[in-house]
Formats: sequence, C-alpha cells, structure tokens
Amino acid sequence: MRKPPFLPICARIMQIPGHIDPVITGTVPLRGGNRVDLVGLTREGIRGALEEAGLDAKAAKLRGKQIWHWIYHRGVTEFDAMTDIAKAMRPWLTERFIVGRPTVREAQVSNDGTRKWLLAAADGQEYEMVFIPDADRGTLCVSSQVGCTLNCRFCHTGTMRLVRNLTAGEIVGQVLLARDALGEWPKGTMASAPDADDEDDDAGHYTADGRMLTNIVMMGMGEPLYNFDEVKGALKIVMDGDGLALSKRRITLSTSGVVPMMARAGEEIGVNLAVSLHAVNKEVRDEIVPLNRKYGIEDLLAACAAYPGANNARRITFEYVMLKDKNDSDADARELVRLIKQYKLPAKVNLIPFNPWPGAPYECSSPERVRAFSNLIFEAGISAPIRTPRGRDIMAACGQLKSAATRPTRAELDRIAAEKQAALG
Ligand code: SF4
Repeated sequence: MRKPPFLPICARIMQIPGHIDPVITGTVPLRGGNRVDLVGLTREGIRGALEEAGLDAKAAKLRGKQIWHWIYHRGVTEFDAMTDIAKAMRPWLTERFIVGRPTVREAQVSNDGTRKWLLAAADGQEYEMVFIPDADRGTLCVSSQVGCTLNCRFCHTGTMRLVRNLTAGEIVGQVLLARDALGEWPKGTMASAPDADDEDDDAGHYTADGRMLTNIVMMGMGEPLYNFDEVKGALKIVMDGDGLALSKRRITLSTSGVVPMMARAGEEIGVNLAVSLHAVNKEVRDEIVPLNRKYGIEDLLAACAAYPGANNARRITFEYVMLKDKNDSDADARELVRLIKQYKLPAKVNLIPFNPWPGAPYECSSPERVRAFSNLIFEAGISAPIRTPRGRDIMAACGQLKSAATRPTRAELDRIAAEKQAALG
C-alpha cells in the first residue's frame, strides 16, 4: 500500500539556471496526513494508487475512471458523494485517499468583480490566485511557484524569494477551488458516468451553460517554465475532455523568456504563449526583466517565431507594462513594431498600466502616453489594447496580497543576492 506521508520537494524541482535566490529544499507534507491526495495525479496515477492500495487491476481501472470523473467533472471532494461507487467501497477509499483543496487564508472581492485568494499549501506556504470576470469571459490567473526567482523590478512577486515550486496538484487545485467558489460544478445526473453500477444518483440533469470561468492564464506568482513538469501535468489535467475540459485555446502560459523551454512548451503542452517583454532594448530590459541578461531579446523573439502552433489565429501576446520615462516613448513603440515585423511574429501587444505599490521603483505612464503608444502600434497593423487595471482596491496585481504580510525589502533581497554571489566566489 502506498502511504508516504511526505514527498521530497527536491524531487519535484527542476534545476533552475541563472542568478537565483536560494531554493529551500525539504518536504511537502501530504494534505490529509497519511492519506494520498488524488488531485494532481494522472489517470494512470490514480489507477496505480488504487492498485497499490489493494484493488485488482480491473477494479482499479473502473474505480479510477469513476473517481476521475467525480473529481474533475463534478467537483466532488467526498467519496461518500460518489454515488456510482458501491456504498461498501466508499469508507475504504476515505480511509486511504483524499480529494484535496488548498486552504483559503484570505478571499477578497473587488468592487469591479475581481476576486483574489491567498491560498496555503499543506506545508503552510502561501500563493495567490485571481479571477477576473469580463463581459464575455472569466479568466483565472494561476500561480506556478511560491515566490519567484526572477526579480522583475515592476513585479511585487519579484521582491519575494522563491520558496518552492508548486506541485501539479497545487496548480490544478487552484482551478478546482475557483470552480467551487464560483459555484460552477454541474448538478444532477452524471452525463457521461462510466459504467455506473450503483443506485441513488440525484435527480436533475447536467448543464454546462453559463460558466464564468472560461479561460486560464499561467500568469500568477512564479515563472511557469521553471516548473515545467508540474505545470505541464496540471494543464494536461485541466485540458482533459472528461473533466475540466478547457480547450488549449483558452489557456495561456506566460513566460518572462525562458528561451530553452519555449519550444518544449509549445510541443508538449500546446497552449497559447504570452511573453513578458516590457522593453525593446537590452539596457532597459536588463533592468526591468533581469532574465534578459541570460536570454536576450533577439534569442527570445527568435524562440517566439519558432513557437509551435503560433499563427494569425493563435497570436503570441507580448505583455508590456507602461513605465513612465522608462519604456514608453514613441521611439520605443516604433522599435517594438520593427522587432515584431523583423521576426514576422503573429503578435498582439497587451499594454498594462503599471500598478504601483508603496516603495515601487517606477511610476505609471500617463493615460495620454499609454494611448499614444497604443496608437502607434495599431497604426502599424498590430493590435495593442490597453488593459484596464482590475481589482486595484484589493491589490490584485501579482504578489501584492501575499507580500502585504511577508515581503522582504529590496535591500534584503540585494543583501541575499550579494551573499550568494560571495558564496559562489
Ligand atoms: S513578473 Fe513573473 S517572472 Fe517576473 S518576478 Fe513577477 S512573477 Fe516572477
């Protein structure tokens, strides 16, 4: 029987290249004590866990299929509610397994409808999730790491050191929790219940209409391509047709430019790509997005041009935060257009008015400047919408909720970085 109470974190963390804060290695206690959390396991993983617990292969296959459907299609967290599983088996499952959720430390709703959660993992590590409703869609912004190594200077998360990568279960758990909070699980009979063998299904019929959560962006805390395997595992679950069933066209992975991983992301995950560009020359991008010192703009744009699946119907989104007198001149806009054309990129530019926090090193460009910048790009035939700031009253920008409680100062970060440099000789 499989009963590991802890999983080694180091086994889950891929090697992170470049200048980084120290990664704390240790163990992630499994939620539910000795019981195995099924969230985040693949279909085969669930089947394997059932077999290890003592079911024969045939029973494990059937029960695994049923449990998967209940977890990801119906949002059920109690085995007792899995009504097509024989009643006698449900306590047996409850003794050995759980269907976990992150703990909600704080939940806020903005007056514009944006919702933000501060979540805690089983080991107490905190991370954030934001839901942004729009007229025609609802986008969940999902975190991939606790903290971040990359220290982008306009980003509040960048002021926190990386604590650890989130597991696939913790990533997909955010989507499940959002569906819980939005009340979006179908009620009624199981539309595609596999091989139902038991009684007492509730009355009514499954309806999938009117969903609020329609899109996912891997744009919360962390750099998803530094946690590739767990992000990939989580998104495969999110895209599985017998479950959350979100189309890859509705999922966007945002990277600061981890060039060596971009082709793999396109080939193995296949979701839309967004790139945090934010500057068009080396000097400014080195400052704003320090990863640029490792993977420069030319390499990044070449990787974008080669991104599998990018075309005019599935454009690459370039995120561009508008910083006063830093990256917002007419010349910057023209250079951005020139670069996009030089690399023949099917591109869209998202202009993001900077959302400052106390002590932030930059100011937001004026609305007139942002409009002028946008117009120059539009005039070149490239879409450049200005993002409306959302949830400012609840500090919905990445990292702000968590850091309100725990943020180390930039001076502390500089000290840590200097110590690390010294240690490396
Ligand atoms: S913008 Fe993203 S990659 Fe950069 S520091 Fe913030 S969370 Fe990390």
